[in-house]
Amino acid sequence: MTTTPDIALPAELRPQDGRFGSGPSKVDAAALDALAATGTSYMGTSHRQSGVRNVVRDIRHGLRDLYELPSDWDVLFGVGGATAVWDALAFGFILRKSQHLVFGEFSGKFAAAIRKAPHLEDPEVLESEPGSHPRPQASAEIDVYAFTHNETSTGVMMPLHRPAPTGLVAVDATSAAGAVRVRVPEFDFYYFSPQKAFGADGGLWMALASPVAVDRIELIAASGRHIPAFLSLKLALDNSRKDQTYNTPALATLFIVRHQIAKMLDAGGLRWAERRCRTSSSILYDWAETTDYAAPFVTDEAKRSTTVVTIDLDDAVSADNVVAVLRANDILDISGYRKLGRNQLRIACFPNIEPADVEVLTQAIDYVVAHLSE
Ligand SMILES: *Cc1c(COP(=O)(O)O)cnc(C)c1O
Repeated sequence: MTTTPDIALPAELRPQDGRFGSGPSKVDAAALDALAATGTSYMGTSHRQSGVRNVVRDIRHGLRDLYELPSDWDVLFGVGGATAVWDALAFGFILRKSQHLVFGEFSGKFAAAIRKAPHLEDPEVLESEPGSHPRPQASAEIDVYAFTHNETSTGVMMPLHRPAPTGLVAVDATSAAGAVRVRVPEFDFYYFSPQKAFGADGGLWMALASPVAVDRIELIAASGRHIPAFLSLKLALDNSRKDQTYNTPALATLFIVRHQIAKMLDAGGLRWAERRCRTSSSILYDWAETTDYAAPFVTDEAKRSTTVVTIDLDDAVSADNVVAVLRANDILDISGYRKLGRNQLRIACFPNIEPADVEVLTQAIDYVVAHLSE
């Protein structure tokens, strides 16, 4: 075991809030205060009664407002996070064959889950090196195109364009939803967990579903295909329309999601969130480009994520050491994605993160690196 070098950051190099993790991500302390203030009226009450159902209803309406959803779209909820959605899509959304753009850990896991589904054909997997993303290829055989809006493991963001008039577009938007503006005609099913860009807690998934997506869900549910109830999009749809989930959700997560959506709507919605994330991420990319020991991992500027920034460090500077020293100074969770295996920092720039804190973080990293090499 190596020990963490003993380097104390001066007070002016400490961000107000040291949470820069890409998920779970920084939760607004005001949301936790508001939750605590509910005392005996919310936590520990039935999710089938109005107290909790009103929260679910507010989230549905809030997401509609945030995304300016057409009135014939649905907002679905379920338990289990985006990982559960991959299996739910395998059972209840893909008819025969899907196409997957794989460019990192999360997109890769979804494709792997589909490969193992015995009732589906082998998926078409288009892969690119980490740090880039593949382009979809229109094909009459494909009934679902699987995109990942932001590959959280590598910090690559892809544009969303419907590749073909047929074939539904399902987008894993887990670290983009709530932070990036989109055009809803470009997809049919936009799903995400709330513990990333939405700055809430995990265990839940939400999805924006087009009428065509709802038709697909109904069609497969009526086809007689075996679908485990927990993974049934049809049961999720029916329950969501009643402001419920099929099984018991985490009430605290719902509360924080509602708080976050209300806060974002007040501040100016997705336009506000996107601008803020751009400001924060630009601070980091600009810093990396002008720092001799650092460089943005994603070389193509157009593919650089505005929500999860990945920065390679020079071999002479150990990212593990930098991360450990910062952790000892209460700056948390900025190590690169383990499986990527690079000498890298990964820093979240979600809407809850203060751009001023990101600025201080760059100075803190410079300070630590200067003292590590002494
Ligand atoms: C974190 C993440 C997931 C997994 O989310 P869980 O809530 O842990 O299931 C899936 N996709 C992306 C893009 C993610 O960032």
